[in-house]
Amino acid sequence: MNVPFCDLKILYDTQRGELDAAFRRVMESGWYILGREAEAFEHEFAEWCGAVRCAGVASGTDAVELALRAVGVEPGDAVVTVSHTAVATVAAIERMGAVPVLADVEPDRFTMSPASLERILERYDVRAVLPVHLYGQCADMDSILHLARAHGCKVVEDCAQAHGSLLHGKKAGTFGDAAAFSFYPTKNLGAFGDGGAVLVSDSEAESRVRELRQYGWRHRYISEEPGFNSRLDELQAALLRVRLARLDADNAHRRRAAERYLAGLADIPGLELPVIAPDCSPVWHLFVVRTPRGCRDALAQALAERGIASAVHYPVPVHLQPAYANRTNADPAGLPCTEDLCGRILSLPMHAHISDTDITVVCDAVRTVLAGGAR
Ligand SMILES: *Cc1c(COP(=O)(O)O)cnc(C)c1O
Repeated sequence: MNVPFCDLKILYDTQRGELDAAFRRVMESGWYILGREAEAFEHEFAEWCGAVRCAGVASGTDAVELALRAVGVEPGDAVVTVSHTAVATVAAIERMGAVPVLADVEPDRFTMSPASLERILERYDVRAVLPVHLYGQCADMDSILHLARAHGCKVVEDCAQAHGSLLHGKKAGTFGDAAAFSFYPTKNLGAFGDGGAVLVSDSEAESRVRELRQYGWRHRYISEEPGFNSRLDELQAALLRVRLARLDADNAHRRRAAERYLAGLADIPGLELPVIAPDCSPVWHLFVVRTPRGCRDALAQALAERGIASAVHYPVPVHLQPAYANRTNADPAGLPCTEDLCGRILSLPMHAHISDTDITVVCDAVRTVLAGGAR
């Protein structure tokens, strides 16, 4: 590909000296699990988010499950989330024995529709609401928090695609009762392996995550309740500290890239551009455009022929996937927006080092292809 979708090797090359030094520091320390690096990263990440407490865990999926459990969700409880998300969001709810109820999304924002949430809250006895800040933009937290509070529900944010995303000048992960982050390598803050974190506001919830992530231990070797193993290791924590120091610069680069895309793709018939919701400043984990129904695959194919990578996040909503079909509860009005979007969305190349030239090449190609009827 002349224009790759995302380039992880550049992340290493850009900070090679510091990353190598962090790697050697951990290797030579003789301490590899839950030590100084993990603790330092937890402090630094909480501070960067404007949050009080953070606990590192082994993945974003684990972070969602542990965040739900930390706010008191129990097996059998209903948890509302969206179907238009990474399957991990729903998998985490099910893995802890809770019952996912799927809401529709808003067409422009791609995140949980408050109207859909309201219909679900009227019909189901819901314990927690789990909005996903998809593609780097915050969900409509004002409406979601208002509805959730009115129904006595906890709110857990899935921030796996929204490290640093702002709403009313506040960062994602600081609105609800708890928040889950993933440090999968392609995320805005990515490790060099798996990793995740839970943000919580109160100390009891924090202790719960710290116990559950290590066999339910409050004191070493004594389990207070059945837990499991989900720890952020020292190596990933040390590498994440190096990456965190650059995250503001990386997110600023993504914002400039998005502005360039929005200008370069303006006024192309049939192409709908991402819409920035009022009072939001997205971090552009992905740059997702919409085409008319039936045109998306031809556009992706034509871009590929020109050496331009693209992807679809996600081609099949969770409630229509083989593992979940006919098994999940949903908005009684159905999920029409979710089902419409999945056939029309296309993610264009976006990463923290994308060049202006690459963006121009992509914009020109999209314009040519759509003007020429997808050829
Ligand atoms: C990546 C992602 C997850 C899961 O993170 P892992 O670290 O891969 O387990 C959860 N939710 C969303 C929205 C994601 O994008």
